[in-house]
Amino acid sequence: MKLISLSFDDGPNLTGSVMNDMLDLLEKHGIPGSFFLIGNKINEQNAAVIRRAMALGCDIENHSWSHPDAVKEGLSRAQIENEFLRTEEAIFKVTGRHTEFYRPPYISVNDLMYQAVPRPFICGHACQDWIAEYSADTLLEKMLSGTQDGVIYLLHCGESNLNTPEVVDRAIPILKSQGYDFVTVPELFRRKGVQPIQGKLWTVVE
Ligand SMILES: [Zn+2]
Repeated sequence: MKLISLSFDDGPNLTGSVMNDMLDLLEKHGIPGSFFLIGNKINEQNAAVIRRAMALGCDIENHSWSHPDAVKEGLSRAQIENEFLRTEEAIFKVTGRHTEFYRPPYISVNDLMYQAVPRPFICGHACQDWIAEYSADTLLEKMLSGTQDGVIYLLHCGESNLNTPEVVDRAIPILKSQGYDFVTVPELFRRKGVQPIQGKLWTVVE
């Protein structure tokens, strides 16, 4: 079985509406996704959406507390740890579970990051859906260009990523018709029998 994973960064927005719409889409297609959340965006209102994601078989992962570029901003080890730990606490409070993976904001990493964050780092095939000028057609092409067994697609679930729902809605049936099965990121590693070691950026699990 060919396996792939959809991952979504930068949620949840204030009300959780963007993530909720994405969950509607995933539910419609009967597939799960992995959501890498920004800790300081989690609140009482969108907690229900996060719990809905869990109920639908999606998983919740860590995307830092305040979305800094750790390398460019020269974050200290303590600051990097804080970015990870505060988000971990916020997610645990809502889900009752610890995350398994970390996605560094801007995929900005250095040795200090690898030492300070006790999780494997996920990159993924960048679908470039953060570029507002790209049409849904262009983004769909960019997304599908990275298709291969074991790939993790890097998508976004923020208020400014307006074309992403359409792209995902169109991509899923195409990928299904090519024989791909959708799983969460942790499930992808388990099903492939691959140990997600730390100290590298994962994009394809094979
Ligand atoms: Zn991000």
